[in-house]
Amino acid sequence: MTLLRSGAASDVGRRRSVNQDAVLTTPTLFVVADGMGGHAAGDIAATMAVATFEAAGERLATEASFSEAIGQANAAIYRASLDDPSLAGMGTTIVSACLLGGEGGDRLVVMNVGDSRAYRFRSGALVQITEDHSMVAEMVRRGELTAEEAETHQQRHVITRALGLGPEVSADTFPVPVRQGDRILLCSDGLTDEVDDEEIALALSSIADPQAAADDLVARANAHGGADNISVVLIDVLLSDDGPDEGTQAHKVISSIIPSDAAVAASSKAAPETPEDEGWIARRRRLGIPRTVTFRVLIFVLLVVGVVWGAWAFVRWYAMSTYFVQSTDGQSIVIYRGRPGGVLWFQPRVETVSATTVADVLPSRVKKLQHGVVEPSLEGANRYIANLADEKRNTSSVQPSATPKVTVPSTVPYTVPYNGSTGGGGTGTTATGGSRVTTTSVPAAISTPTTAAG
Ligand code: MG
Repeated sequence: MTLLRSGAASDVGRRRSVNQDAVLTTPTLFVVADGMGGHAAGDIAATMAVATFEAAGERLATEASFSEAIGQANAAIYRASLDDPSLAGMGTTIVSACLLGGEGGDRLVVMNVGDSRAYRFRSGALVQITEDHSMVAEMVRRGELTAEEAETHQQRHVITRALGLGPEVSADTFPVPVRQGDRILLCSDGLTDEVDDEEIALALSSIADPQAAADDLVARANAHGGADNISVVLIDVLLSDDGPDEGTQAHKVISSIIPSDAAVAASSKAAPETPEDEGWIARRRRLGIPRTVTFRVLIFVLLVVGVVWGAWAFVRWYAMSTYFVQSTDGQSIVIYRGRPGGVLWFQPRVETVSATTVADVLPSRVKKLQHGVVEPSLEGANRYIANLADEKRNTSSVQPSATPKVTVPSTVPYTVPYNGSTGGGGTGTTATGGSRVTTTSVPAAISTPTTAAG
């Protein structure tokens, strides 16, 4: 035997003037419908769907009769839209849970058409039971979109199935094994568009009473903006043929909840146990990053930041990778790091002030120094200054002296050994008497560094 208890809440939200959602709760049948259509047509479609299920009531004993009720609701809405032009195009989503009896015991079955959802909450994990009949959900299933991209896709509200749009409709059916302590949540997209899975799980784990929990979820959706009508039905499994959930008591407050993107995306997958398994959505929620920040947006921003940073680093390298020597005050000689005049916002900075001053260099070099002389390295800049000083000293040392300390003749005799064959004497040996003396002129040094210094 399975015993259920439920709570329900439906609210117009903060932006709409009409609540086009409708809900139904009985001891064994639960419905959320989200109507659509101009004026009040959506309201009528949702109300008609709920009324059809309410009328079916006790006859819903099998999956076939459950499915038949959906067919009847679809036909009634479709007929009404054909009969009244003002209702043309109206329709509604529907998600319903029904406790069906049978020889094997009670079974909970969920059916849905459209993007209203059913979830099962067990042991702190929220798992989506239904699959949305929406354009983006189908693109995700085909691998054309990621779940993250679907959350912010412009056409995420375009649904591909609804009651009342055609003479027939196909609903998905999900047998849902339940245990004591499980909670089944039915809701319209006004809740799931505003409140993320982690926050829903937090509410379900912390509020025991199903009516109070349903009210709390609606309040959270309104707190996040309430852009659409919000409807919630929460069903608690008080008693089940399968007994209590192992290790979990009904309405046990769980302090730590780690929701799973994968589990949310596919009910057949297990919920993760560790934070390492969380995907981008869960991480984004944990960090409080807005929904509009998708993974692609984040990558794009990082790329832009990377390019800007790269350009900044290159300009900085170009501006500061060299040195220059300059004298701006006509006295001191300074080595700067950077380029004369700077590059963009990178201005040169003083690297060192040389002990050599302008007075230590040739006057002809001063003008160049005033403009700045670029050197590829600090060592090169120091060497350049040293060369200027050496140049000045050497030039000073070769200045003509008024009173040379050493005077040499303008010419000096140069003795060439005599060759006996060319002269008399007969012995062939060199002798003073027989030597042939000639003279040649050798320029005399004006001075030498030694004598100049002496
Ligand atoms: Mg809606």
